[in-house]
Amino acid sequence: MNDILYIVIPCYNEEKVLPITHKMFLDELNELIKKEKISADSKIVFVDDGSRDETWKIICDLSEQHGSIEGIQQSRNRGHQNAVLMGMLDSRDKCDICITIDCDGQDDITAIEQMVDKYHEGYEVVYGVRDNRDTDTLFKKYTAQGFYTLLKKMGVDVVYNHADYRLMSKSALDGLSQFKEVNLFLRGLIPLVGFKNTSVYYKRNERLAGESHYPLKKMLALAIDGITSLSTTPLSIITFLGLLISFLSFCFIIWVCIGYFSGNTMSGWASLVSVICLLCGFQLISIGIIGEYIGKIYMEVKGRPRYIISNRTDKNE
Ligand code: UDP
Ligand code: MG
Repeated sequence: MNDILYIVIPCYNEEKVLPITHKMFLDELNELIKKEKISADSKIVFVDDGSRDETWKIICDLSEQHGSIEGIQQSRNRGHQNAVLMGMLDSRDKCDICITIDCDGQDDITAIEQMVDKYHEGYEVVYGVRDNRDTDTLFKKYTAQGFYTLLKKMGVDVVYNHADYRLMSKSALDGLSQFKEVNLFLRGLIPLVGFKNTSVYYKRNERLAGESHYPLKKMLALAIDGITSLSTTPLSIITFLGLLISFLSFCFIIWVCIGYFSGNTMSGWASLVSVICLLCGFQLISIGIIGEYIGKIYMEVKGRPRYIISNRTDKNE
């Protein structure tokens, strides 16, 4: 088989990890070339997401030592999703298959071969799915589960326990390139691209070195982005709540009128204040949710670039 595979790997401040994991990626690539599952022109593309440490220097050194390693650098840190998109879209015209994987060795590299096999069976998109969450803390396990359930309820089609470890064919990448949105949540977007797809299952390990860049705050931001950039269900919920509260208020007014005319108007200060507080809370939350969407529209309307490449190891381009 002569299909060219590009393995796109986002890296942000990964000077501790890259010297260890690049060998694993190289070995896997060479193994697949040896087995003639992919072309000898296949490459590993490290995407430096504006790192502040020695990551870019390491990538440049690696690309000088190994012909099958390339690097591209993002002009500043834009986050994992933008880095992955930059790598995929930049590789689009050079490869037949593209696999994205994190650089910290958490995702089982041997699943790459299974993904390539699935591609040869005719699948254009292959999702890497974790078969368990044993290595996660209880907190991460339950918040992640809750998040996937919430996304499903909001009508966002996501593959359960799949992050951004996946294979896409050139046609699928061409499809993805037509989605122009700036607010990116790739795992919700790629099912919208369509094409024949399947999953392969793998075990997720601990990070080999360095620290996670996804603290609770960033995870929450990604979760909110995921929902608000792919679903308008929260707006419908507000409308529904508005109608429900109006109906309840109407019943309450009737009850108050009956009380007034039958002469037992008690000084219901406490209940009044509670109702006002509750409604104020609802209103503020609703305005907040609407604000989230207006913020998203604002960013989309500007149409700013989703990534800017500032440097390449391959200077011929
Ligand atoms: N990453 C990135 N830009 C960022 C944060 C992370 O490109 O702003 C990369 C990082 O180098 C790694 C991948 O995204 O390859 C996943 O990040 P991390 O391992 O920190 O997240 P976790 O696995 O803990 O969710
Ligand atoms: Mg990680």
